[in-house]
Amino acid sequence: MAAITAAERGVRDVLILEATPEVLTKVRISGGGRCNVTHACWDPMELVGHYPRGSKPLRGPFSQFACGDSIAWFDERGLTLVEESDGRMFPQLNRSEAVVECLRRAALAAGVKIQCGSAVRTLSCSDCGGFQLSDQRSTFHQASQVLLASGGHPSGRRLAQDLGHTIVPPVPSLFSLKVQAPALSACSGIALDNVGLDLNVGHQRFRETGRVLITHRGVSGPATLRLSAFAARALHANRYKGELRVDWSGGLGRERVQQILQQSRRDQARRTMLSAKPFEHLPRRLWLAFLTQVGMDGERRWADLPAKSERQLLETLCAQRLSIQGRGPFGEEFVTAGGVDLGEVNLATMESRRCPGLYLAGELLDVDGVTGGFNFQACWSGGWLAGMAIATSILTESDQTQ
Ligand SMILES: Cc1cc2nc3c(=O)[nH]c(=O)nc-3n(C[C@H](O)[C@H](O)[C@H](O)COP(=O)(O)OP(=O)(O)OC[C@H]3O[C@@H](n4cnc5c(N)ncnc54)[C@H](O)[C@@H]3O)c2cc1C
Repeated sequence: MAAITAAERGVRDVLILEATPEVLTKVRISGGGRCNVTHACWDPMELVGHYPRGSKPLRGPFSQFACGDSIAWFDERGLTLVEESDGRMFPQLNRSEAVVECLRRAALAAGVKIQCGSAVRTLSCSDCGGFQLSDQRSTFHQASQVLLASGGHPSGRRLAQDLGHTIVPPVPSLFSLKVQAPALSACSGIALDNVGLDLNVGHQRFRETGRVLITHRGVSGPATLRLSAFAARALHANRYKGELRVDWSGGLGRERVQQILQQSRRDQARRTMLSAKPFEHLPRRLWLAFLTQVGMDGERRWADLPAKSERQLLETLCAQRLSIQGRGPFGEEFVTAGGVDLGEVNLATMESRRCPGLYLAGELLDVDGVTGGFNFQACWSGGWLAGMAIATSILTESDQTQ
């Protein structure tokens, strides 16, 4: 985005140095091969709420270039983005390859040169102004301005550190949670909406409500991933141990659940607890798991439900306690929390405050969002701002020398 923006504004000799054999690998594998390019969230103030790291400081960049601007930018270059019911935006062709192709075409048209298999090893300020870079083959490059956008790779953080930047220690974000709950693992594959998650890690508390997916090892799904993002640092510091309380009542609340249980015992007395399932939103398999957990056989009749088991059932439905045993595998998306300290970057231009002429954008910064297209959006915004600022700086300089 930055290279194309600068080149389209008239900067000549824009060169991308890429360590791997091809650019945009992550875009290609993103969103399960569909690439969730951005999110239909029009208000920059609301948008920043989706960034556990970044948040308020991102108001500036997002007031310059946000979701609507990304949609228009891609549209102007032949890629239509369409919105799904939950606000996520994907290419109309539903393939991430379409995004890669769009960016490649735009880069080619703007005259951006791409050199793959070129891992930058050193980056230093040159004696005669600008920067000197060298790659793994000890090939040297001179540049008047440099944008560092090396994602979560450690080499980029090291290059930034060598130029005086502070690195907020990286930790993973957006992961599922391993929990100890044998009864739940039998329900693997069930996804439920409007589940309340309340996480205690040490003295810190995190809450989310939304869709939860039960897996063989614990819980995943959008609400869990979001919770993991906001609790990423706390969980890391606590070795991924904590207590999760899950409200499976689907928003009914404790009082209503209690009423329903009492009503079932009264009105369905002769029917079995499995056949007369009182909560429509709970799949039968999950209801049976809850009954098993409180020591009830699904074939027992409602009339035979002991008061103690009823209380336990109420507790399981409204505040099931699960002990977190560790971090589960990543979902479709995962990012690194941490990176270059945002206080060291001018977020109006993405230029380093430590090293003029150096720009930083993307996951290398201490910015990360929840799932839903927010991570790419931060990259598009930062990339566009950096590209514009680099163009302004270079073109102003060349005007003055003419
Ligand atoms: C599986 C997966 C799916 C995802 N899906 C989505 C999604 O659908 N929507 C969303 O918003 N986010 C998604 N993300 C997150 C998103 O991919 C990242 O936030 C984003 O790619 C970060 O962009 P970046 O340009 O900062 O870094 P990257 O995309 O990682 O690009 C950095 C590039 O720099 C290169 N590089 C690193 N070091 C050097 C060096 N020293 N010299 C030369 N080159 C170097 C790397 O090889 C890489 O090509 C996903 C992440 C993953 C892992």
